[in-house]
Amino acid sequence: MYDLYDFPLYRPPSEAYSLIIQITLGCSHNRCTFCSMYKDKKFVIKPVEEIKKEIDTFRAIYKNRPVDKIFLADGDALIVPTKILAEILDYIKLVFPECQRVSVYGTAIAIHQKSTDELKLLYEKGLTLVYLGVESGDNEALKFIKKGIKAEKIVELSKKIMNTGIELSITLIAGLMGKYQDNKNHAINTAKIIQEISPKYASILNLRLYEGTELYKLMQEGKYDYLEGVEVLKEMKLTLASMDREKFTRKVIFRANHASNYLNLKGNLPDDIDRMIAEIDNAIEHEAIDVNNYRFL
Ligand code: SF4
Repeated sequence: MYDLYDFPLYRPPSEAYSLIIQITLGCSHNRCTFCSMYKDKKFVIKPVEEIKKEIDTFRAIYKNRPVDKIFLADGDALIVPTKILAEILDYIKLVFPECQRVSVYGTAIAIHQKSTDELKLLYEKGLTLVYLGVESGDNEALKFIKKGIKAEKIVELSKKIMNTGIELSITLIAGLMGKYQDNKNHAINTAKIIQEISPKYASILNLRLYEGTELYKLMQEGKYDYLEGVEVLKEMKLTLASMDREKFTRKVIFRANHASNYLNLKGNLPDDIDRMIAEIDNAIEHEAIDVNNYRFL
C-alpha cells in the first residue's frame, strides 16, 4: 500500500483513520514562511485515470473492510478543477459506496477560484469537509508568514464555502510571531476570526520549525526565536479571553490537543471559554507545561 504514496504524506490529525488518496502532489501556494511540508515537491495534479486506478487498488486492499472516511491529499487538493474533482468524487462514490465523509485540504485561493455553484456541486457529489489553514486573524501576522491573503478575505471565503453545506475545519498557530515581535494583535485578531467564521471545528496548533523554511533561516540568523512555552499559553489565554460570546453564530468544536501543543485543551466555543482559561491558569501556576509535548505542526 505504501508504494501508492509519494512521500512525505501529511494529513490532519483527525484523519488518522481515514483512507488517504493522493490526487495532487505538493501545495500550489508553497510559500508560507513556517511550512516545510512540501518544500521538496513540485505541485502536480495527478492524471484522473491514474487516480481511478489507485482508487481501484485501494478497494482491492480494503476488500473486506468498510471505508468510512477518505481524505484527499496533498496540501491543496481543493485547487483541482471542479470538473476533475467532481469526476473523482463520483468514482469514489461508485467504488466506496459506504464512505460517509470525503475531506480535503484547501487554501483560501482555491475557494476563491471556485464559484458557489461549483462548491455546491462538489458538496452534492460527496465533499463534506475542507481543512483550511487560517494561521492567524491578524493581517500583519498573515503578511509576516506570506500567507498571501488578508483576514477579511479569509472570513468572506470561509462563509462562502460553509453556505454550500461543506463543513470547515480551520487551524490557527500559537506562538507565530515568535519571541521578538508583539503577539497581542495576533492573539486578539485570532479570537475575532474564529468567532466571525464560526466554523464547525477550530484548532490551535503550536509552531515548530523545520530546516528549509524561511522562519527557520531567520532563527539561525538570530532574527527570530520561539516563544517560550508559558508565553504561548498566555497568548492562548488572551485569544480565549478576547472572544465575544455574542459574535459566535454557532457552536464551534475547539481543540488544542495536538502533539505540538504545550497543554491539551478541548471544548466547545463559546460555552467552555472560562473553563479552558482556568485550565491555562492552572497549568501556568503549577508549571504543568509539557515542553516535550510537541512533534510537528
Ligand atoms: S501552510 Fe498550507 S498553504 Fe502554506 S505552504 Fe504549507 S501547505 Fe501550502
